[in-house]
Amino acid sequence: MTRKNNQSLVLIKPDGLVKSLTGNILTRLSETKLRIVGAKVVKVTRELAEEHYAHLKDKPFFNAVADYMMGKIYAKEYERVIAIVYAGEGAIDKIRKMAGATNPEEADQTSIRGQYGRVTTKGIFENVIHCSANEEDAEREIKLWFKPDELIEEVYASEEVEVKVKKRIWK
Ligand code: ADP
Repeated sequence: MTRKNNQSLVLIKPDGLVKSLTGNILTRLSETKLRIVGAKVVKVTRELAEEHYAHLKDKPFFNAVADYMMGKIYAKEYERVIAIVYAGEGAIDKIRKMAGATNPEEADQTSIRGQYGRVTTKGIFENVIHCSANEEDAEREIKLWFKPDELIEEVYASEEVEVKVKKRIWK
């Protein structure tokens, strides 16, 4: 069940896909010895991008960062992200350390963002991955991006409910 700092949402952002970095990023993250408990490819809607970055809604770069997460600034085939939930002791800290600072130019040069990120001429921090910053964010983000059945471990408490579904059948 819920343990402190023990799960984190990672998103390989569209620039990571454009630059063919998926394998490199997964290799770096595997060095943390954390385990993957869920993974999928997601076409990000504006609603999801804005919800994910709700804490930035008053920032001047809010729309640009939503466009970036949706892949709108790249070719259509890159309008996607890879979403992964990592679990294991100290997951948030271990991944944040490996990811490096938000601004890729300030990130440790051997971190993922330091190695692969850049600041675009329009001033967007293309920093290749997202990773949860703290426990509260991790819980909010994992619940936003994944349904309980999409994770192979119950990282947060869930419950089964019966839902009534309307569908057309033969008379
Ligand atoms: P992090 O992704 O490190 O948790 P934030 O939540 O503050 O950082 O920001 C979300 C994303 O918005 C960053 O990863 C980056 O892509 C972009 N961003 C943040 N701050 C800036 C900024 N000052 N200028 C341009 N882009 C930014």
